[in-house]
Amino acid sequence: MSKLRLKDKVAIVTGAGRGIGLVTAQTFAREGAKVALCDLDMPEMEAATAQIKQAGGEAMAVQANTAQRASVQDLLDKVMAAYGRVDILVNNAGIIRDKQLLKMEDADFDQVIEVNLKGVYMCTRLVAEAMAARGGGVVLNASSVVALYGNFGQTNYVASKAGVIGMTKVWARELGRKGIRVNAVAPGFIETRMTEGIPDKVIEKLIEKVPLGRMGKPQDIANAYLWLASDESSYVTGHVLSVDGGAVT
Ligand code: NAP
Repeated sequence: MSKLRLKDKVAIVTGAGRGIGLVTAQTFAREGAKVALCDLDMPEMEAATAQIKQAGGEAMAVQANTAQRASVQDLLDKVMAAYGRVDILVNNAGIIRDKQLLKMEDADFDQVIEVNLKGVYMCTRLVAEAMAARGGGVVLNASSVVALYGNFGQTNYVASKAGVIGMTKVWARELGRKGIRVNAVAPGFIETRMTEGIPDKVIEKLIEKVPLGRMGKPQDIANAYLWLASDESSYVTGHVLSVDGGAVT
């Protein structure tokens, strides 16, 4: 019989109400983790936690804004009260506000940096302290394929996702001796609400450039997070794992 890969681990997954975060939370729960789902939207998460519990897993939902210190502190306090520790943090929450540079408003730039960059900093700043106090943990950050090659209309998003790679490498160095591994995943184009609005013609062009010939599914990314969260990757830190069908080769 195969062993559960995250048995008794406690995981926080941000942006877990839908998309990649939701499937990651479900996958971690199936592998034995107690999962705290965090999102701005409570009804989506309540449905998700109910579904996880129905399937025999353990989960809780916490409404939190990852970009606000008080909100993240409240999230951490609730998880510590319920489960007593945090072993895994998946910094998945992210947003897009796409516009070409010459049409971009400062607010579009600021909002994306606030959530995608400062939110990842804020969650890690607080959660890594709790992990260090207990002797270790795993931090996983959502970057993107576009951080590696740029993308039309995404000055703000690409800046944030490239910044996430930089922070991942800094934290791997700073936190390694404290038993904390820090890695990033760079997804290609994945079928979620974030990519729903891309016109079919553009999608066809994108797929033409993907050696595996298809868009990714949230489960493709969740599987990468699972491996990086598990002890199977215990000598891997500071790495950026592309999960993009070969788009960046
Ligand atoms: P998604 O379907 O849009 O889901 C993102 C979730 O994050 C939403 O539930 C959203 O909640 C939540 N969220 C946004 N801001 C938040 C905040 N400040 N605090 C807490 N939760 C917040 O996105 P996805 O496609 O699953 O993407 C997940 C991550 O992977 C993102 O970081 C994204 O940049 C990255 N990624 C995605 C792709 C792709 O092709 N889909 C490619 C590369 C990287 P609300 O809806 O309530 O705002």
